[in-house]
Amino acid sequence: MKQVSLRLINVSKVFKDIKGKEIRAVNNVSFDVEPGEFVTLLGPSGCGKTTTLRMIAGFEKPTEGMILINNVNVVDIPPWKRDTAMVFQSYGLFPHMSVAENIAYGLKMRKVPKDEIERRVNSILEVVGLQGFGDRPPSSLSGGQQQRVALARALVVEPSVLLFDEPLSNLDVLLREQMRVEIKRIQKEVGITAIYVTHDRIEALTLSDRIVLMKDGKIEQMGTPEEIYEKPASKFAAEFMGKINFFPIDIVEILSDKTVVRLKGTVYEIPSLPTRKSDKYVLGCRPEGLRLSKQGPVKGIIKTVVYLGNLSEYYLDTEYGEVMVKVPPPFDKNFTEGREVFIQIVPEIAKIIPDD
Ligand code: ADP
Ligand code: MG
Repeated sequence: MKQVSLRLINVSKVFKDIKGKEIRAVNNVSFDVEPGEFVTLLGPSGCGKTTTLRMIAGFEKPTEGMILINNVNVVDIPPWKRDTAMVFQSYGLFPHMSVAENIAYGLKMRKVPKDEIERRVNSILEVVGLQGFGDRPPSSLSGGQQQRVALARALVVEPSVLLFDEPLSNLDVLLREQMRVEIKRIQKEVGITAIYVTHDRIEALTLSDRIVLMKDGKIEQMGTPEEIYEKPASKFAAEFMGKINFFPIDIVEILSDKTVVRLKGTVYEIPSLPTRKSDKYVLGCRPEGLRLSKQGPVKGIIKTVVYLGNLSEYYLDTEYGEVMVKVPPPFDKNFTEGREVFIQIVPEIAKIIPDD
């Protein structure tokens, strides 16, 4: 059997609100995480990401289902006896302790000998790039540095599974981008299994070996970043991974290597297959998968042009609502606000998406 660090089997969590009404925060979720894998739980606010993570950590008990860490069902094991560690959005550092004492805390609790603590703390300070910061109080560090201390404190106990709950949300944009790359580097260097919760698709795309996309407590789609971006299994998945325009189509024929579709009388051969079986489909076109033209199946009026130097964004009014087209230079001077244009589809990057 395949080696797994973590396995969730039909896990559900039902909360009751103050009037006793049931809230199914997590609804029959199952997935496996392999040793050393970086898996992201991605989805909009309220979809059950944090609740799932808290059940893995042991702060919540599943209403139904099993959670296996290294093949042991842990649902009745308290958090401190589970082999997990968590990094939070608020760093949660102890202000009256030095950086080194903060990092050493978990090892002390585990009664690790003093000289080993010192060795491991120094080694982890190096991994997170904070050599020489051991004696400083956390308050003298920047936000990004404090987040690194929190990461070091979680890593130093060498947990089987490292858990992150939106750890970068409090950092400014530049630092967030930097820490994103850092977290990935450290995770791969240490070779630890990680579950990372975020609502930010860019974070998920950058960091993950695999993404578990959630909606309303359920798994909407699971796959590599590329699979979810390139082969969204639903309109929700397609939209959550980035701006996309949908056009209604009729399927003419599904062949072994392509799909023939009709959009308003124009027939297209799309060199890909529907992302899954359904009764009804739409054509999904990312803004970079459309062209502006003097003819084409869909007519639009240019509402807004956003010039970004390396590309221009055109927002069009069409019979299918607003359509966004991204065009690389050179820009056609005729395509100005108020003008009538037509939209062409680039078949190679169009997707046939289930609409059910
Ligand atoms: P996310 O992290 O994806 O934003 P959460 O897991 O925090 O979502 O929450 C999922 C749902 O469960 C939400 O509707 C939330 O209001 C509800 N919820 C979370 N924790 C509790 C709780 N302790 N009591 C009642 N409802 C809760
Ligand atoms: Mg959350």
